Amino acid sequence: MKLSKQALIALGITGAGVLGCSRTELTREQLDKMLMETAKKPVTSALSDGAPCYSMMVPVGSIEYLCPVCKTKTHHAKRKNKEDVINASWYREKMKRIQKLGLNATLDETDLCSQCRQDKTTDTVDFYILVTADKRSVRTRLNFSELDMLIAFLEKKDVWKTENDIIRPLKGKLPRLFEILGMDTDGILFRFEEKTGNWILETKN
Ligand SMILES: [Zn+2]
Repeated sequence: MKLSKQALIALGITGAGVLGCSRTELTREQLDKMLMETAKKPVTSALSDGAPCYSMMVPVGSIEYLCPVCKTKTHHAKRKNKEDVINASWYREKMKRIQKLGLNATLDETDLCSQCRQDKTTDTVDFYILVTADKRSVRTRLNFSELDMLIAFLEKKDVWKTENDIIRPLKGKLPRLFEILGMDTDGILFRFEEKTGNWILETKN
């Protein structure tokens, strides 16, 4: 039987799916409870101004990316893509930690592979996370420091640290956490509190 790429992604065996999956998986009920606990945490503002941004050292010329799934070698010459190749190992490490914390999640880095990528008309690279809970999977495009945000959430912390070392309240990312985890927002009203940068959860049926 030959499975389509979508089916392989659904089974979690492409991309960083090779990293293996956790034996115990957080259920939707558990995730919902954790989100509600985050919503109930006290409102906090950004706790530090962070460090200045340094640009990444990227080698001249192109970088070769070896696909962990199909073993195809893809050469990336664009600066942004080269950064993504370098960052891929960072994403994989963070994803391992997320899996250890019980979330059934896999990294989709197929945009880096000329063979595996879904949209072959472009070479734009994005990383995706595939979260599965109670047999329902959601694939979401990731922003760079969102894995740290997710780790902080799974570790039940109040705050998380951005890539510029700014400490931010997790409550400032509540709607995004719902989105990444693929949780229903029916009956939920979020209100953004400008002054503190927190989302206040107004109602939940
Ligand atoms: Zn590939």
